[in-house]
Amino acid sequence: MGDILQISGLTKRFGGLVAVNNVSFSVHEGEILAVIGPNGAGKSTLFKLVASFLRPTAGEVRFQGKRISGLSPHVVARMGVVRTFQETTIFKGMTVRDNVIIAHQLRARASLPGFYFGSLTAREDEAEFGRSADEILELLGLERIRDEPALSLPHGHLRALGMAIGLATRPKVLLLDEPFAGMNHDETVRAVDMVRGVRNRGVTILLVEHDMPAVMRISDRIVVLNFGEKIAEGTPTEIRHNHKVIEAYLGI
Ligand code: ADP
Ligand code: MG
Repeated sequence: MGDILQISGLTKRFGGLVAVNNVSFSVHEGEILAVIGPNGAGKSTLFKLVASFLRPTAGEVRFQGKRISGLSPHVVARMGVVRTFQETTIFKGMTVRDNVIIAHQLRARASLPGFYFGSLTAREDEAEFGRSADEILELLGLERIRDEPALSLPHGHLRALGMAIGLATRPKVLLLDEPFAGMNHDETVRAVDMVRGVRNRGVTILLVEHDMPAVMRISDRIVVLNFGEKIAEGTPTEIRHNHKVIEAYLGI
């Protein structure tokens, strides 16, 4: 498989602070790649640079060979690099299923043919959106609560719904910022399965995460940041035995 994302010399300064310092790595198509590192290492900043929420001071991000740095986040999302949605973008008054259908519709309207011919094909679209929404809901274990209002969902289900909404926009790369934060052991195990299920549908996953056991279980490869710099890259086994990584985490 080729590289779907290429991150080259990526640097972000905030005044005198270099939050991300000359970081380069590639994300292979179809893999799950995790970025880890101690607090303040630059993970979230890197993430925002990839999603184009921030403009790099130097360096660039390429998606399928095209430079995406400097494009607006919604353009990048439409190209297929999608951040999971925050809970605030969930329509709490609507059902779980309707939230996913709406995300499909927004995606369809964002493409020009969908925009011009939308009214002609509305009926077929509706059936197709419904089928596709049900598939996604099943993948994320939400099918049994699909008719409940999003308003009444517990935290774990809301996260899953956020992922469902992200998936409905048909991403090529899904960016997950700390998908396991605040989850207990069982919730994490389920969420890890979910993320694997999403990848098995052909979506490449780039995630930032603190939960080391979960990262070790889920990732094909791991990139480690410390003080804004990449200090290691490799498989979970390689990373577990890497001296620089052990030092960074233990603070020796
Ligand atoms: P992580 O996600 O790994 O904890 P961050 O990317 O959030 O790290 O932060 C990296 C460094 O950049 C930290 O020192 C943080 O205080 C700083 N930083 C992050 N965002 C900003 C900002 N908008 N303005 C100034 N400093 C920032
Ligand atoms: Mg962070």
